[in-house]
Amino acid sequence: MKNGEKSIDLGGRRLIAMRDVQDVVTAGATSIVAAENCVVTPSARDFLQQHGIELVMEKAAGGSQQAAQPAASSVAVVSGPSVVNRRLFSTPEAEAIKKEICAVGRKLWMRQFVDGNGGNISYRIGPNEVLCSPTLVSKYDLTPDDIGMTDLGGVQIAGSKPRTSELLLHLEIYKAVPEAKAVVHCHPPHATAYAITGRVPPNLIVPEFEVFVGKVAVSPYETPGTQAFAETVLPYVKSHNTVLLSNHGIVCWADTVTHAEWYAEVLETYCWTLMIASQLGVPISRISEEQGSDLLALKKTLGLPDIRFDASRMKECQLSDLEVPSSIALEPTPCDGPTSRGATASDGDLESLVKSVTDAVMDSVGK
Ligand SMILES: [Zn+2]
Repeated sequence: MKNGEKSIDLGGRRLIAMRDVQDVVTAGATSIVAAENCVVTPSARDFLQQHGIELVMEKAAGGSQQAAQPAASSVAVVSGPSVVNRRLFSTPEAEAIKKEICAVGRKLWMRQFVDGNGGNISYRIGPNEVLCSPTLVSKYDLTPDDIGMTDLGGVQIAGSKPRTSELLLHLEIYKAVPEAKAVVHCHPPHATAYAITGRVPPNLIVPEFEVFVGKVAVSPYETPGTQAFAETVLPYVKSHNTVLLSNHGIVCWADTVTHAEWYAEVLETYCWTLMIASQLGVPISRISEEQGSDLLALKKTLGLPDIRFDASRMKECQLSDLEVPSSIALEPTPCDGPTSRGATASDGDLESLVKSVTDAVMDSVGK
């Protein structure tokens, strides 16, 4: 343990309440150790955070409720959702990501993907730590000092401005998809137009959309900012990096904040292009299923998710899903969203499609 740090061991407690943590502060501790199955009251947790005291939840050795050995050795073996590392907030990595969040916020505003204080951006910087944009700040005006940090439960750990209530949506995605490091939520007008009709754009029209976004899902409507709203995306986020939020907007996840914003751009431009093309009075041309398989293979090599990789769900989601060549919107299939439509492919079609995708993947891997 470094000079100036003092850890107090409360590993024998089953409950840690306000009075306990007040005593810890009085004693000058910089961290406390608690048993993994110990209940820490919300007010005690907030109090610890306000005073910059690290809470370390430790696995009880051999199931014993005995007090743990003091903290120096136990800090390294802790686990569990309550462990937070406040120091992450001011690391060079965090400072760089705060700047990236601000740059992405400005892009969202400049592209008219957000209005007023709408939209939010986050980045999972640690196993249980998330940097996020605050509530009630225009994304154009964001500065690094506005960015806060919460744990995966949504409790704010650091930052002077309160977090957005819509962070709950981001947190559900982080918990469900380990690969998700960044989440961007916004309201781009053309993609949101799809979201308010409960329709998804068709596939196999523009390659960039196939590779970076692909089939989008529509999640059912719930009041924004609520836990129920946050959980609406759960059936879709493992196999889609972009989801239309009914009567609301969109959410995208990626490995970086910048990439998540790219997916929003790709989806928005695609929806806009489809709407313009639909006004030209002639059918929209399609990419063939075979050429679409090449795109899917390319997508797989990039490590991007797509519902169409899942052969067991291919019956629900054909590669194209285009029944009418000139259509610009489709009823969501069961894997896309809350309203359903019957399957359209025969087993033979599916087998050949899966085979062509597999062949294309093997080809590109071999290159
Ligand atoms: Zn919103």
